[in-house]
Amino acid sequence: MDNMIRAIDKKRSFRILAVRTTDLIEKARQYHNTSPTASAALGRTLTAGLLMGYMMKSEDNKLTLKINGGGPLGTILVTADNKGNIKGYVDNPKVDVPLKSNGKLDVGKAVGTTGKLTVIKDLGLKEPYVGSTDIVTGEIGEDITLYYFISEQQSSAVGLGVLVNRDCSIKSGGGFIIQVLPNIDNEDLELLEKTTNELKSISKYFDNNKSIEEVIKEMFKKFEIEITEKIPVQFKCDCSTKRMEEALITIGKEELKKIIDEDGEAEIVCHFCNKKYNFNKEQLENLLNNAV
Ligand SMILES: [Zn+2]
Repeated sequence: MDNMIRAIDKKRSFRILAVRTTDLIEKARQYHNTSPTASAALGRTLTAGLLMGYMMKSEDNKLTLKINGGGPLGTILVTADNKGNIKGYVDNPKVDVPLKSNGKLDVGKAVGTTGKLTVIKDLGLKEPYVGSTDIVTGEIGEDITLYYFISEQQSSAVGLGVLVNRDCSIKSGGGFIIQVLPNIDNEDLELLEKTTNELKSISKYFDNNKSIEEVIKEMFKKFEIEITEKIPVQFKCDCSTKRMEEALITIGKEELKKIIDEDGEAEIVCHFCNKKYNFNKEQLENLLNNAV
């Protein structure tokens, strides 16, 4: 059900990337046991990360989106490729804050408004591209719009939405990024701005069994939208015993020796999916002997 699309309006005046993420956010919630507000914050960030990753050109490119607004959730970090795979975590998944007066989850309060949004793009070059802007609302969608405007001089609109059920499971999730193309005329620009401004509650559009194509055509019904590509998306962690061994080696021989002498074993938990990796004394000694 969770799919991501590329679309363009018939007059080639703007581009849309859009994704439905209901099942993917539910999986993230189960991995991290997130509170409703943490689910919404992580869910919006995962949705944005998928779309931002999808903008990259090459299959080997990786995008990391890091949000730290100084609020009680701590850092939210997601890493995506350009073909619909993502993983992510939030520092303090159990943290929750009171609802807003309108009954909505207060993502802005939980994320905070005194920190940075950072985008790291590994484009296969020697140094990764790093861009960073101040977080203003902590609601994530607006902060990413601002990031594109300031850091990449790109005029865009970002809509992200997550709805959480009473039992804390995910009711719906999804989002879009619109990029205005240079040949847009004033009339279409006005209509597009009016349309996006009226899309106040994005999550409502995703709160049904409609496909992402149907959702986008409904949102932008005043335009003729052509879908040019559709791919599935998933929460996928790429951790492995080998990666964890490498992590153990990087802590250094001294430290590794200390663990062997003092504990005789080690347990490493993957940040992204909470999978536990256990190493016994013999395995640790082998690692120590192989460490350079
Ligand atoms: Zn993992």
